[in-house]
Amino acid sequence: MKIVINGIHANLRFASAHMIPCHEFCGGIHGHSYHVDVTVEGERGGEFGFVVDFKTVKGLVREICKELDHKLLIPEKSKEIDFKSIDKSVEFSIRDKEYKIPREDCCLLPLPSTSAEAMSEYFAERLFQALAPEKSDIKSVEICVNEGIGQGACFTKITE
Ligand SMILES: [Zn+2]
Repeated sequence: MKIVINGIHANLRFASAHMIPCHEFCGGIHGHSYHVDVTVEGERGGEFGFVVDFKTVKGLVREICKELDHKLLIPEKSKEIDFKSIDKSVEFSIRDKEYKIPREDCCLLPLPSTSAEAMSEYFAERLFQALAPEKSDIKSVEICVNEGIGQGACFTKITE
C-alpha cells in the first residue's frame, strides 16, 4: 500500500534561489517556490495498521525543506563551479562569472546540480535513510520536487 502526501496542501515547501551553470536561460541566479510531493510504499503494520505515520514523514521532509529555504542552493559537485573559498563567504566562479555570497545565505548540497531532477533524488535518498530506523519494510520512497505549480521531477528510491 502507498501513502501519498501533497506538498502544497501539507505545506512541504521552500523558496530558494539557484542556477544551472552554463545553461542559456537558467544560468543566471533565479528563484522558485518549490513544493515536494511524497509517496511511500510499504506493508501496513503496527498498532494502527499504518504504512508509516503521515506526521513522521511530513516532519522529516519539512526538516530538509527548512535547510534549503531562503538560501542560494549551490551544488558542491558541479563540474562547472570553481570554488575559491568556503568560509564566511562562499566564493566561486563559473567561467567568467565571479560570485561571493555570505555563507549563511548559502546551502551547499553534495550534488552535481540543483535541477529538480537532482533535488528529487537528494530528497528521496535522505527520506529513505531517515525512515529506515522508523520502519524497516519500506518498499519505496518517491519524491517529486516541483519548481512551482506545473513542473517537477520525480525520483523513486527502491529498497535493494
Ligand atoms: Zn530554476
